Amino acid sequence: MTQSKHDFPIPTLPAGKLLIGGAWLDAEDGQTIDVVNPATEQVYTQIAAGSARDVDRAVRAAQGCFESKAWQGMRPLDRGRLLERLALLVEENADELATLEGWDNGKPFPVARHIDVQFTMDALRYYAGWASKAAGEYIALSPFANDGGIYRAYTERRPVGVVAGITPWNFPLGQAVQKIAPAIAFGCTIVLKPSEETSMTALRLGELICEAGFPDGAVNIVTGYGDPVGTSLVDHPLVRKISFTGSTATGQRILAGASSQMKRVTLELGGKSPTIVLADADMDQAIPGAAMAIFANSGQLCTAGSRLIVEDAVYDEVTKGVAEFAKSLPIGHAFTPDVMLGPLISQRQLDKVSGMVSAGVEAGAQVLCGGGRAAGSGYFYQPTVVANVDTDAQLNREEIFGPVVIASKLTGLNQLKAAANDTEYGLGASIWTSDINKAHLLADQIDAGTVWINTHNVLDTAMPFGGMKMSGLGREFGSEAIHAFTEAKAVCMRLDPSKI
Ligand code: NAD
Repeated sequence: MTQSKHDFPIPTLPAGKLLIGGAWLDAEDGQTIDVVNPATEQVYTQIAAGSARDVDRAVRAAQGCFESKAWQGMRPLDRGRLLERLALLVEENADELATLEGWDNGKPFPVARHIDVQFTMDALRYYAGWASKAAGEYIALSPFANDGGIYRAYTERRPVGVVAGITPWNFPLGQAVQKIAPAIAFGCTIVLKPSEETSMTALRLGELICEAGFPDGAVNIVTGYGDPVGTSLVDHPLVRKISFTGSTATGQRILAGASSQMKRVTLELGGKSPTIVLADADMDQAIPGAAMAIFANSGQLCTAGSRLIVEDAVYDEVTKGVAEFAKSLPIGHAFTPDVMLGPLISQRQLDKVSGMVSAGVEAGAQVLCGGGRAAGSGYFYQPTVVANVDTDAQLNREEIFGPVVIASKLTGLNQLKAAANDTEYGLGASIWTSDINKAHLLADQIDAGTVWINTHNVLDTAMPFGGMKMSGLGREFGSEAIHAFTEAKAVCMRLDPSKI
């Protein structure tokens, strides 16, 4: 690493090439995409813009590896060792990876280092352990045939085959590993397509994968746009499973595209998650908790607590507190000391967030703090609290994916519950209360893949994660990952007691 003239560390950049069959290759037609640092709006490097032909090369490499004797014969423990070795290399290069994420995604260096890179190491180690534990079961059958035989069955967990991992830009390194680690642990091979906005840490991870000694073709990386790279992966007949994290609109397209070949699909999609604050909550925890539920990662979190639903008795205290907290959050470049919030990822995202807030204000919404672009260059948006928004307004219904929270005042548990569930999404929710009864009774009734109590946005590779309703299909993380990356195969046998 060197220092730039602004005293920002500059990481060694991976070559913007494609990882196919263990080799780093240019895109076949030589196309590239400019990579922009969202805090400076400056282009600082290029990545390859893959094509359908590049996808085909990568998928064939993955299929070749999957069918190879070496891969099929590799002991599960040894697949685990590959992941352990990679975890160690990530650890050795942790600062470098976090610096790269700071440049590419814009998030503050400490966040990249202690959340993204830490999650990456944890996920690799967690799945390394799973490689040897994907067991089937032994089943005693009750057959209809009264033929004197004894029937038994066992199941095995078979890897689905070549996986396409398609990821978004908000947690680039963590998302890449969320696809790669379980795929490898459970015996699949993979083609990863990172977001065209943030491919740098996935490419660096690819270099570390080569260094760790993964067999050629086990992990392939094709950078480029959703169309053609993502679409070609979805269409390719040798891809048996698509593990997608991204917006609900893209997820719907992928689901439709995958259906003709009956591909396995896991969809981790968007959200409009409620943060529910009851009157009896400990406000010293609830106010900063509700604020960081939405403002962490500048609101670019699928589980962001973007609807603040507060019991009427404490509404003024909570909204005032969250607005004050928002104003105190230092915004800036990834490497400026003490910065807590980075920029949005792109001009497009900045325009989307600004446009939604402006339209809301024109329709009568009240801005309690923020409400505009932060001064200076870079795609920075002020942490914003908005009130007085109609239930059916776009601000209350659609995912904003920026640091904007919509506050509403309600009375009693039934109203709070109804408001929390009044959304097409069902990804996350948090409940802030000192009453354990209310906490559990409410948690029971919230339609969300994860409900947090007195905390928000806590993710752990050991805890299943995914969405209800329009927030997704299937689960990843924890033991659920077995179902996402393997299929049960039953073997049924008749034992003949007369042979003894
Ligand atoms: P996006 O859907 O625009 O893109 C995600 C990925 O899909 C990118 O790599 C993109 O190139 C690719 N893609 C685009 N069109 C495609 C197509 N037709 N076929 C195949 N691939 C295609 O999402 P984004 O803007 O990068 O990310 C933000 C979204 O991701 C938000 O909605 C957020 O809630 C969601 N997200 C969900 C989770 C979760 O776990 N549920 C986590 C993080 C982000």
